[in-house]
Amino acid sequence: MPDNIHIRLNTASVEARVDAIQAAFEERGMKPAEFIQEFRELAEEKWLPENGARVCARAWTDPAFKARLMANGKDAVAELGLSMPAHHRYLVVLENTASIHNVIVCTLCSCTAFSIIGLPPDWYKDLEYRARVVRQSRTVLKEMGLELPASTEIRVWDTTADTRYMVLPMRPSGTEGWSEEKLAELISKDMMIGVARIAGT
Ligand code: FE
Repeated sequence: MPDNIHIRLNTASVEARVDAIQAAFEERGMKPAEFIQEFRELAEEKWLPENGARVCARAWTDPAFKARLMANGKDAVAELGLSMPAHHRYLVVLENTASIHNVIVCTLCSCTAFSIIGLPPDWYKDLEYRARVVRQSRTVLKEMGLELPASTEIRVWDTTADTRYMVLPMRPSGTEGWSEEKLAELISKDMMIGVARIAGT
């Protein structure tokens, strides 16, 4: 390998390259700093997994809402004041049962229904997860701490630009009569991706 490869890879720090990209946008009349600030506010204050948790808790407690959610997820979450970007045309809700476990992936990149379940975790963007969860789903889930019985069928769903997914976890027994708020606290982003389950389900 020629020695100059190393020199070329180390010409500028990440910070210097980010600054150069921002300067190039600014020269063209665009406002990257404002865009980044706006994106950060959305990511930290609005695109939270608590949104999806609220949707799941409502589905557990309101059968008519659940039916609407399964039929047209995007319209149903709008009933709770939640919106999705225009290019997320469909929200498909995948219900876990005792015999079926759903898990989602974006094999091409990192798509999620981020305004509902939150932005994707770093591992979700890894080539390792994206490639292996499709072919070795049971093994990958086990490595991530979710060991499913051999009798449980695993369904892997590949996200596309316009079709986004959310896993509806199973409601654990012993939660009869709980409020929606209390039920929602049981549900995490990982559960709505399908790499975790609520204990006891
Ligand atoms: Fe993607």
